[in-house]
Amino acid sequence: MPRICCPRCHGTELSWVPVSGRGSVWSSTEVHRAPSAEFKARTPYWVVLVRLDEGPTVMAHYLPADAADRPLPDTRVDAEVQDPMEGSGMPLLAFRRHA
Ligand SMILES: [Zn+2]
Repeated sequence: MPRICCPRCHGTELSWVPVSGRGSVWSSTEVHRAPSAEFKARTPYWVVLVRLDEGPTVMAHYLPADAADRPLPDTRVDAEVQDPMEGSGMPLLAFRRHA
């Protein structure tokens, strides 16, 4: 997620840096109560914190392969950018278990 300033020195000269989209799950939670109307149809769904191989941590959705697939810590994952949901102009960042 883009920041408005550097969390360490509060500098505002930021830039975009390409990343591989690969990382490891650091933490996860299953959401049963949607925070807004757009997300209601997706419940229950997983939200994960993923530590990218390049270092930064991002929050995103997790798309399970099946009902038994849980994003436990250290699960290796690959990023996928999904089209914006209806009612939202923002693309949705999601991860799937690394094949
Ligand atoms: Zn800084």
